[in-house]
Amino acid sequence: MDGSIIPPETGSGCHGGRETMIEAARAAGKSESLDRMMKDYPRGPHDQPQSMCPAFGALRVGLRMRRTATILSGSACCVYGLTFTSHFYGAKRTVGYVPFNSETLVRGQLYEDIRNAVYETAKPADYDTVVVINLCVPTASGVPLDRLPKVIDGVRIIGIDVPGFGVPTHAEAKDVLAGAMLRYARLEAEAGPVLRPRTQVELPTVTLIGELFPVDPVGVGALLAPMELAVGPQVPSREWRDLYGALDCAVVGAVHPFYTASIREMVAAGRPVVGSGPVGVEGTDAWLSAIGKAANVSADKIEAAKAKFLPAIKAVIAANPINARITVSGYEGSELLVARLLMEAGAEVPYVGSACPKTEWSNPDREWLEARGAHVQYRASLEQDVAAMKDVKPDLALGTTPLVQEAKSMGIPALYFTNMVSARPLFGPAGAGSMAAIVAAQTKGRERFGRMVSFFEGVGKGETAGYGWKDVPKDPPGSKERYRKQREAKAKASSAVGT
Ligand code: SF4
Repeated sequence: MDGSIIPPETGSGCHGGRETMIEAARAAGKSESLDRMMKDYPRGPHDQPQSMCPAFGALRVGLRMRRTATILSGSACCVYGLTFTSHFYGAKRTVGYVPFNSETLVRGQLYEDIRNAVYETAKPADYDTVVVINLCVPTASGVPLDRLPKVIDGVRIIGIDVPGFGVPTHAEAKDVLAGAMLRYARLEAEAGPVLRPRTQVELPTVTLIGELFPVDPVGVGALLAPMELAVGPQVPSREWRDLYGALDCAVVGAVHPFYTASIREMVAAGRPVVGSGPVGVEGTDAWLSAIGKAANVSADKIEAAKAKFLPAIKAVIAANPINARITVSGYEGSELLVARLLMEAGAEVPYVGSACPKTEWSNPDREWLEARGAHVQYRASLEQDVAAMKDVKPDLALGTTPLVQEAKSMGIPALYFTNMVSARPLFGPAGAGSMAAIVAAQTKGRERFGRMVSFFEGVGKGETAGYGWKDVPKDPPGSKERYRKQREAKAKASSAVGT
């Protein structure tokens, strides 16, 4: 492929008036918050969410944490969608909501209502933390969550702005809350003694940043053992005291490279940060060297770890070769790592699109992929992902729901990145063979997809869309003429404005 891209559409999405919202937020005193977002989550070429509401990322991080209450402040329709999605993903937790109307918003009553809700919720017997999330409208209206008390009866209060016009993806919204929590925990730890994490290991630890498949931290722990290192609590964390353990590491593994605010807190705590992850033979080799070096591990221990695991990974890859051309697209932030693994297994990967931005922590993966001919597109839009797929005609497309739909309509086998790829181990020997079977199963189905496309040819398009019609629907008599006259009258009226 030539790497050319289709310019993404602007102004689309549920917050189509983005510039207006930004202007309003600035006028309402949110400039500092917005400037931080623009710096942490840089835009372009694509910067509009084309998936779920970004705030879902922050909501999910809060809901997955023990003894943490999460309260949303936003329009009812946004809150409906967010709570629906959170329960769809098995939250099993109440989502708090402070409703508003134009009057309570304009008069500043909404802030008072939020404050009251926080006081009512902050019971130390129930919670360690109460998180309040400002969605688009309250952020644009300047609802000042930073004025909430920092602590009530020992319960920490964290207020964050997560508007769709400031945080491009739900992946990055996870970082907004994870970073805010790490900052709070870091300041607590700097001020005096704090609780030990529930499971404290005696070895120096590596903090992995990113939501990983549950087997992966265990596998990474095994890789680190010969270097006398262990995996510490992850970020995003599952319990407040884990944040102290995460901060108290020897080195940070920025496995998901877009956690800019979280990494900033780790750097402020004096921790070295290493990008990429232990994928395949070459990825694991480089990662073990970088982690070992950052943690001051002796060269012989680093070599011992490599000698123990690299031959095993090599053997698994050799036993599970992938012979296919694959495009990789997603919004999880692990797309580059997945592409590396596929390539090491023998796949041709001409295109990798990630909705996440470019950061220095994904440079090792980007450089590795580009050196092998892959086009890496950060902030990839759906249009770019689809164009790449049409261009390279892969045997298999990995991607988001709309991309998979498009692929299937073209007869290209496709797999959902979130449900199928992220639900498998990626690292070490366990990850090395995890993709071969599903790739083989899907690519074998190509001929079947072709038959389905020809079978359904024309169905669901134009006059055949919808159901209940046996014949081509007929326009009501005279309707075309009526609409023509209406259009003309409207055009005339609008051209007369201002004359
Ligand atoms: S909070 Fe903003 S981005 Fe999310 S659904 Fe509402 S308007 Fe859209």
